Amino acid sequence: MTDGLLICSPLGIEARAVRRGLKSADTTVLRTGYGTARAEKRAREISHSSFVQMVVMGVGGGLTADLSPGDVVVSDATPAALLLGQELRRAGLRVHLGPVATVDHLVRKRERAKLAATGAICVDMESAPLVKAAGDRPVAVIRAISDTPDRSAGHIVSGGLAALRSLTKAAPVVERWAAACAAREVLLAGPRSFCAGVDRAIEIVERALEQRGAPVYVRKEIVHNKRVVADLAGRGAVFVDELDQVPDGATVVFSAHGVSPAVRAEASQRGLSVIDGTCPLVSKVHAEARRFAADGYTVALIGHAGHEEVEGTLGEAPSSMVLVQTADDVAALRPADESKVAYLMQTTLSVDEAAEVAGTLRSRFRDIRVPGSDDICYATTNRQASVRAIAAESDVVLVAGSKNSSNSVRLVETCERAGTPAYLIDGASDIEVGWLAGASKVGITAGASAPPAVVSEIVSALSGLGPVSVSERVTTTESIRFGLPKEVRH
Ligand code: SF4
Repeated sequence: MTDGLLICSPLGIEARAVRRGLKSADTTVLRTGYGTARAEKRAREISHSSFVQMVVMGVGGGLTADLSPGDVVVSDATPAALLLGQELRRAGLRVHLGPVATVDHLVRKRERAKLAATGAICVDMESAPLVKAAGDRPVAVIRAISDTPDRSAGHIVSGGLAALRSLTKAAPVVERWAAACAAREVLLAGPRSFCAGVDRAIEIVERALEQRGAPVYVRKEIVHNKRVVADLAGRGAVFVDELDQVPDGATVVFSAHGVSPAVRAEASQRGLSVIDGTCPLVSKVHAEARRFAADGYTVALIGHAGHEEVEGTLGEAPSSMVLVQTADDVAALRPADESKVAYLMQTTLSVDEAAEVAGTLRSRFRDIRVPGSDDICYATTNRQASVRAIAAESDVVLVAGSKNSSNSVRLVETCERAGTPAYLIDGASDIEVGWLAGASKVGITAGASAPPAVVSEIVSALSGLGPVSVSERVTTTESIRFGLPKEVRH
């Protein structure tokens, strides 16, 4: 018996299919025997052995119409299901997560329908007793579908062969999953997740929906997060790219990233009922841009081209503002009057990188005017400081956030600059088990637009790879709240 991965396959033909796909000589495939009684006997025999992870792999009967022969069902009864299921999908298998029913006899059409009515999607005769033998060790059940209720007997052989091929294909994936199994320490960065501006923007849309009813139009994503957007869309928010997609007279919410005066003017001309979700800290940068431009300054805006916040801020004074992203952009600046230059920043930049560009501007323009207070907002600064603290202690960091979220991307870069690999994920299902092999300390944070629940979901997914102890490193606490606009205050 192995000190590593144990794969339990009831039938010899299933065990052989699994063995064909294995890469490691350390994996044991045990033929456990056909039927519940043999599985129970085997489970008693192996429960005290020294295997580290167990996966039950065999053929199963499909119970629902969406299953086809060769599809793979991963039982959702164990916490291993999510990460293993996703890894199998990445390997090209068609995977379903759901309940697997274990019964003590062969079931035919009518009985399958009864089992399906309980919510089960697959039936077998062995997995439940075998899983019990794993105790507290990581365990999973994979069943490759050989037949479904609506397939005629003529398909039994081809269905069985398709299922065996899937078992072979799944075997190396199971080994990769096993290599990532370990007891782990999880370090949570604090602060993390929603900031005051995001909280406010989401609440504005929620209240608008409550008070005015659906649809409520939102120009651009209210905050840069897939889940938040999908959740609000499910409740009646309609996200549009531009105002010409909003019907006359409808309610439109401007996103937390702000808009240019040209967009405001268009909304007013169209008679749209506007609720402004712009974060007050973005509005502060807009106000500074207007003030500097009115005083005759050329304003260098340090930021990323194409970001909605940058487009909105540049729109405050297009003829007086220039976007600078690098030291080369600073060198190329040709202000009308070198003694009248100011700079501002996008709120969600990397503190370190923005300081470098700002330093280059200060050395080139001795009289340069700077923002009254930091433009990079408190939430961005705090989240970068807190992730830096956990990166120093972690083997790998998982950052919850969407790819278009500037502050989330900056958190990944902060870790990488500290020499710690980091991955940006929308949720636990994006985690690749290969990232975790050999990582005993995993840091987790979330960008300012990522919901707090994603962090719990990630911790829960990691617990499918072994015991997890969670601690938090809080570098500062936040108490900032912003008031709501008058349109939705009551
Ligand atoms: S990240 Fe900062 S600027 Fe952006 S919404 Fe949050 S508090 Fe406002």
